[in-house]
Amino acid sequence: MAESPGARRAPRTRSGLVYDDSVHTDVDPMREPVPAKNAADLKKFATLGIVTKADLLVHYPWRYADSREVTDIASLAIGLNVALIARVRGAQMKHAARTGRPRVEATITDGNRSLSLVIFTANEGIATWHLGRLAVGELGLFSGEINVFNGRLQLANPVYQILGSVEDEARAMEEAEWPIPIYPATKGLDSESIRATLRKVLDPLTEADVPDPVPPEIREARGLGSRLKALRDVHVPREETDVHRGQARLRYEEAFVLQAELARRRARAQREASTARPPRAGGLLEAFDARLPFDLTPGQVLAGAQIGDDLALDRPMQRLLQGEVGSGKTVVALRAMLQVIDAGGQAVMLAPTSVLAAQHVRTLRTLLGELAEGGMLGGSEIGTRVALLTGAQGAAERKTNLLDAASGQAGIVVGTHALLSSPVQFADLGLVVIDEQHKFGVEQRGALLAKAKNAPHLLVTTATPIPRTVAMTVFGELEISELREVPSGRSGITTHVVPVDSPAWMDRTWRRVGEEVARGGRAFVVCARIDPDDDALTNEDDGDDLYLDDDEATTVAQATTAGARPPKRPLRAVLEVVETLRQDDRLGGAAVGVLHGRMSGEEKDRAIADFASGATPVLVSTTVIEVGVDVPAATVMVVLDAHVFGLSQLHQLRGRIGRGREPGICLLVSGAPDGSTATQRLEALAATTDGFELARVDLLLRREGDVLGAAQSGRRGALRFLRVVSDGAVIDRARDDARGLVDADPELTPWPALRGAIEDQLADGREEFLGRT
Ligand code: ADP
Ligand code: MG
Repeated sequence: MAESPGARRAPRTRSGLVYDDSVHTDVDPMREPVPAKNAADLKKFATLGIVTKADLLVHYPWRYADSREVTDIASLAIGLNVALIARVRGAQMKHAARTGRPRVEATITDGNRSLSLVIFTANEGIATWHLGRLAVGELGLFSGEINVFNGRLQLANPVYQILGSVEDEARAMEEAEWPIPIYPATKGLDSESIRATLRKVLDPLTEADVPDPVPPEIREARGLGSRLKALRDVHVPREETDVHRGQARLRYEEAFVLQAELARRRARAQREASTARPPRAGGLLEAFDARLPFDLTPGQVLAGAQIGDDLALDRPMQRLLQGEVGSGKTVVALRAMLQVIDAGGQAVMLAPTSVLAAQHVRTLRTLLGELAEGGMLGGSEIGTRVALLTGAQGAAERKTNLLDAASGQAGIVVGTHALLSSPVQFADLGLVVIDEQHKFGVEQRGALLAKAKNAPHLLVTTATPIPRTVAMTVFGELEISELREVPSGRSGITTHVVPVDSPAWMDRTWRRVGEEVARGGRAFVVCARIDPDDDALTNEDDGDDLYLDDDEATTVAQATTAGARPPKRPLRAVLEVVETLRQDDRLGGAAVGVLHGRMSGEEKDRAIADFASGATPVLVSTTVIEVGVDVPAATVMVVLDAHVFGLSQLHQLRGRIGRGREPGICLLVSGAPDGSTATQRLEALAATTDGFELARVDLLLRREGDVLGAAQSGRRGALRFLRVVSDGAVIDRARDDARGLVDADPELTPWPALRGAIEDQLADGREEFLGRT
């Protein structure tokens, strides 16, 4: 393998092996090219990502046909790729009227219904040969795409195999009883040919040919077979239980390889030197706790203690703080920062948007009061400063803040990715807090870590709570602290789904907004688009959007693929809704503000400030408010076209209200039909405010690829058998086993096959999600 995977871009293949002849001089039989018939065939294999024999072996069946059962022809539909077991009822040769080209027309039946089948051939010889094979009464496996001809379904140019007419009669009889693996196929390369090629490769293999990443001790302890055995089980099963056994073994392997890499990274990070930042008596943290206007929740106390202990060590903390929306993660993060400042260090907090960064600065300054006015007239003697660095800033302001960061005057530096640009320097960076981590990629994190002399401590907070097993997979190298409760004294949120087609409900919605505002509350109105003239949905980050955020794209794709019909009416847009609401009597003349990603940083800040102060008690906005915007007086939220949003996104949005003493009400205006996935999502949301539970439901309603991030979906390196939502027990076992190995040897030296498997997986793009911490 190339030592630095990034240095050279070799084609990615199904097994994840980077296949490049110029680097492989060793003779690994698995890296030999797939035994295709000819160059054209080789190309077809390549379109499936299959270049080497190893690639072929991990081209797994997507389902199995039961050879003892005849497939139900009644269930066919146009465009379906099928593999049918059926009996030949009749076949004849015909000729095209004009060209005279021969074709074979046949009828096959499952005993109930029949299906026409047509094979166009080059000459009569071939047609006659087909006729010979398609003798009346023969049972065959027919595969191909269903299309329609003259108003009737038909199978054109199917690939077929007559069962029981194979050379080895006895074996064929036996094999005909086995489940038939059906492979993902491509034009000109059908499941049967793939199966035949696979058997050619797989049948002669011995244990020595197939390195097993799972060491024998672990296999024995867990009652698992070898990798070769698992491959035979899934590719050549004798019966259904073989398939299950093989898949279970491969599922474990996926979890194990992943966890081994995570354990190795964790061990590496722990070996790095970091500066211990123990708590100091009489410092900022104590002063802060003394002036805090509320009691910490038990969860905040526990997480605070865990973090405090980590910081006191001279190994870098690697911790994930995940918690319910509104559970008070910011206070926990701030207390960690203060401990670090007390110990002579600085902390940096990275936020996904400049709106959020600016808000964090406001929040932190408010919470800190005079403690944030270090070196200023009237400030506390032990105080520090909070500096903001974003791309939206003016040059002068930026310069002051850069200086504060470099001199150490600012104990806390908050910003967006602009923080990562080279002029930003720190006197002594001790802690990196990454807020709402899912928006950050690996390079950004690396760039920040590189700004510290010693490895800084790392605290990551998540935007959305995720089930423990998912956290373990995606953030496996991090220790986890959880905030499960929200501070008491909140009156909670009620959520209702409002059908957009019901004028009465819609009327009630706007009147409710008017009432809340009249009582001194604030109302958010969230739209999916900015401008009515845009046809696409807005991908709403702010001006500082160098990072990619696929959330909205995913959401829309879901809404359309998940069964919700594309909305009949165009999605409501901020610029249009704000105009209508300004004219709407039901709002009682309340001023209506606007917030969206195309506004400048300054305009955005002003919009939020006006909303918070009550100057504009109604704010029409995009999802730019999704993360973290904290206005305690906000009591009502109307989400227009709620059906196009994702569940966790809506939960996050909803978390913007009911943060003060007054209860919140969230009205989800939806155009989704009853019973659609979109409606199911909205109903789940209305039924509970438990973010962990919602995350679970959400993940079950989504494709697996989405779980590991949009970047991961559709990738060949995606997990094939492991389901991170439901395979918690497997992941637990694999993690224990993997950590055991890493304890014995942190670099996994005695297990070359495991190291190889890790390298292969990472070469295939998984690096990306492992790095998203
Ligand atoms: P999130 O976890 O969603 O980031 P925040 O940190 O923004 O939540 O906190 C939400 C609100 O709750 C803030 O206004 C914060 O000041 C307040 N808060 C935090 N902890 C407590 C507590 N223990 N008691 C009361 N209010 C709290
Ligand atoms: Mg937050």
